[in-house]
Amino acid sequence: MNLSSLTECRRCGTCCDKGGPTLHADDRMLIDSGLIPAKHLYTLRKGELVNDSIRGCLLPLESEMIKIKGQNRAWTCVFFDKTGPACHIYEHRPLECRILKCWDTRDIKAVYSQNRLTRKDLLSPIPALWSLIEDHELRCSHVTLRKLLDSKSGGAAAKKTVREMVEYDRSIRMLVVEKAGVELDMLDFIFGRSLSEVFRGRC
Ligand code: SF4
Repeated sequence: MNLSSLTECRRCGTCCDKGGPTLHADDRMLIDSGLIPAKHLYTLRKGELVNDSIRGCLLPLESEMIKIKGQNRAWTCVFFDKTGPACHIYEHRPLECRILKCWDTRDIKAVYSQNRLTRKDLLSPIPALWSLIEDHELRCSHVTLRKLLDSKSGGAAAKKTVREMVEYDRSIRMLVVEKAGVELDMLDFIFGRSLSEVFRGRC
């Protein structure tokens, strides 16, 4: 498709197929009202290496992002129905989906890193859970992990610390499922993607 010839969205779904949006403060009502259930969200934490879709390269995140999940293990937004093609929440789609114009990216670039929604906004009103998240962030920081893994001199000691962090990440997830009844599909929102998945094969 020749993007330069477009002047309005044709709802072709190409952007939805590439992945769900990052959420911003404007989108909070969608979570609070249940239009977007928390089980459809995941968190990319500070320091995590992610593809920056605006700059077009891999960069460590300066602050966390909450995003809408893909379908199964694909990037396609969980709300996108390819048979339509259609968005199941089109009338209530998040800010980035409303302002994205694939033929003119100036609007999305202007808001992309502004007023991002965070777990603190959504989960700090639940003190017991928020305390676990803060503790997890201290003990399993992506910033620390990346330094350890990139360290040329860390050697065996660094690898041992990384393995301990991965194990703590695994055990805190099991704990909230088994002891607090948290559903499995909430874990990637509450604690971000599991470290064993993110660092598979590196520790
Ligand atoms: S929320 Fe709707 S418009 Fe936005 S990426 Fe998902 S399917 Fe597309």
